Amino acid sequence: MYFQKEFECMSKADIKKLQSEKLVKQVKYVYDNVECYRKRMDEAGIKPSDIKSIDDLQKLPFTYKSDLRDNYPYGLFAKPLSEIVELHASSGTTGKRIVVGYTKNDLDMWASCGARMLTSIGATKDDIIQISYGYGLFTGGFGLHYGAEKLGLTVIPISSGNTERQIETMIDFKATILASTPSYAMYLAETAERMGVVDKLSLKAGIFGAEPWTEEMRHQIEEKLHIKAYDIYGLTEIVGPGVAFECDCQEGMHVNEDHFILERIDPDTLEPITDPNKLGEIVFTTIDREGAPLIRYRTRDLGTVNITPCKCGRTFIKLSKPQGRSDDMLIIRGVNVFPSQIEEVLLKNPEGITANYQIVVDRVNNTDTLDLFVEMNPDLFADDMASIERLQKQLVDKLRNVLGIGAKVTLVNPNSIARSEGKAKRVIDKRKLI
Ligand code: ADP
Ligand code: ZN
Repeated sequence: MYFQKEFECMSKADIKKLQSEKLVKQVKYVYDNVECYRKRMDEAGIKPSDIKSIDDLQKLPFTYKSDLRDNYPYGLFAKPLSEIVELHASSGTTGKRIVVGYTKNDLDMWASCGARMLTSIGATKDDIIQISYGYGLFTGGFGLHYGAEKLGLTVIPISSGNTERQIETMIDFKATILASTPSYAMYLAETAERMGVVDKLSLKAGIFGAEPWTEEMRHQIEEKLHIKAYDIYGLTEIVGPGVAFECDCQEGMHVNEDHFILERIDPDTLEPITDPNKLGEIVFTTIDREGAPLIRYRTRDLGTVNITPCKCGRTFIKLSKPQGRSDDMLIIRGVNVFPSQIEEVLLKNPEGITANYQIVVDRVNNTDTLDLFVEMNPDLFADDMASIERLQKQLVDKLRNVLGIGAKVTLVNPNSIARSEGKAKRVIDKRKLI
């Protein structure tokens, strides 16, 4: 099932043609309306008329998060505020927040992207969606809301927090779809288990994103809540949720290519990456945004793509689960470590432990230290010290195999690590505080 088959199943040639037409217009539009773009293109010696098709995209300068910060709050808007009907801001995971504006048409485009992703997971107007993403300046709540409303679902706009009440609501209102961050879904699942009410839920699917999560985490959520869990990707700068979405095949997330052009580059050389399996920095160009268009925006997220034709019939390119941002990568004793690698090891070895963990990086006597705190499950907790130590040692060995460096693992009491209602804070890098 599709929401807009005429776009979602376009031939590759037609996508390219549409992208080219929209890009030419968008470049002229930003040049005429945004001083920052005009200056940057003038400096690079590029005129809008030099951009004749998508093949000329690489002539254009990149845009960075620092541009959004330097032009805070409204400097990159291409429309006067009288045309801007809604503002959103990043949740500020990395540094000072940024602000993005939407016109009426932008909101409509965003809603269509949301409706596409909900259709793609099998939602219809007969479904009841509990939106447990935060509402507010964060794009999660409203992004899902507009999409669900467009498709005609029954929306429970509960936002995040008040976790036991969330479970009661889900049961009483017979929610069939849950939308939240994956870490909050895990917390909700744990809470439902603790309340002994998992069997009373009517959920069939979950639509989760806004933070990195592993396949192992997906399996755990699916098992605990008896649902199928789908991944969605987005970022405030582009439109929040709705940039890319999974279909039933779950072999990557289809990028809404009629609205966003995807490029992948080597973050060091800035050269395009053509090998689909090679990790590259994801770069997006919005080609029909009116309020806050972005040209060649460097997301800092790293990903691969899947270019094999999808069985679902959609022709949009598929993005792998982003492996985290290049700025989230930890360099520990000179070795590159992604938190997702650690999560994978933990969740592949679920015996005795839970998915609640925290990574603490520090520097002691000029040497980096990596400490991992993982909650035991209550059964192990009741067990003897010797088995706890054995499990800690096993995890240290497995982590060394995967990461190539030593980590200290401490198993901690059940429920001792703070739960997240939005994006989980898994890493504390104390070196940055020095
Ligand atoms: P902030 O930058 O403050 O975290 P955003 O809500 O805009 O605010 O976060 C967007 C970022 O969240 C993306 O750039 C990406 O790093 C991450 N993200 C979003 N969806 C996913 C996903 N499905 N998988 C992995 N990471 C994701
Ligand atoms: Zn597909």
